[in-house]
Amino acid sequence: MGLFEGLEGFKLTFGKLFDERVTTEYSGGRFDDEKREKAMRLHGRHVLNRYEDGMEKCIGCELCAGVCPANCIYVRGADNPIDDPVSPGERYGFVYEINYLRCIHCDLCVEACPTQAITETKMFEFSFTNRQDAIYTKDELVVGDDGMPQHLPWEDWRPGEDEHTSAWMRATSPSGAAEYVGKVAWSGELGYGVRAPEAGQTADLAETHGDVEFDRDGAHH
Ligand code: SF4
Ligand code: SF4
Repeated sequence: MGLFEGLEGFKLTFGKLFDERVTTEYSGGRFDDEKREKAMRLHGRHVLNRYEDGMEKCIGCELCAGVCPANCIYVRGADNPIDDPVSPGERYGFVYEINYLRCIHCDLCVEACPTQAITETKMFEFSFTNRQDAIYTKDELVVGDDGMPQHLPWEDWRPGEDEHTSAWMRATSPSGAAEYVGKVAWSGELGYGVRAPEAGQTADLAETHGDVEFDRDGAHH
C-alpha cells in the first residue's frame, strides 16, 4: 500500500469519528443507563410455570426435548402420585434440565409445549464459572409460590424482565376448514397467573393476534 492509499484510509477513519454513533455502551457498570430496551419478544432464560393452585404445568411429555434443535433439554416423565399429584395430568416432569451452553433461545420448545409449561423470560444476562452450573435443573427453572421466576444469585435481573415471558405462539391446525389454512393463533405474554383462554374455532376469530383479548366465551374485544 502506497503513501497515498494510506492517507486516504486515514482520512476515511478520521471522518467517521464525527459520525453519529449507532452503537451503545454495554456494561454492567457505569454505562447501565445506556442499555437499549429489550424487544417485547426477546427470548431469555426459561421458566417452568405452574397453575394458580400451585400445580406444575409440565406433564413430562418430552415434546420440548424432541423439537429442540440444539438438543439441550433433558426431560424424564413419571406417573403422578395418586395421593399427591404434582401436575393435573397423568404424568409430570420428574427430571427437567436445560443446558445453557447449547441453548440458542429459538423458543421452539415454547411453541411445542402443549400446556404452556415452558416459557422464556427477558433475562439473558447470566454467566457461569463451570460447565455444570450452565445446566439448569428443574428446581431452578420452576417458578416460585408467587408464580414469578426465581432470581438466582448469578443472574442479573433488570426491572420488568420477570414480568413477561414468551409471547407464545401456536400454529393451529385448520381442522379441515379452508378459512383457517395458514392462520396462526397468537396469545399475549404468558407464563404465570391467569391467562386468557385460547381463541375459539369460529370464523370471526381467525384474524387474531397478540393485541386481542378474549373472554371466557371466546369473544374478542
Ligand atoms: S429455546 Fe430452542 S434451543 Fe433453547 S431449549 Fe428451547 S428449543 Fe432448545
Ligand atoms: S415443558 Fe411442555 S413440552 Fe416439555 S415435557 Fe413439559 S409439558 Fe411437555
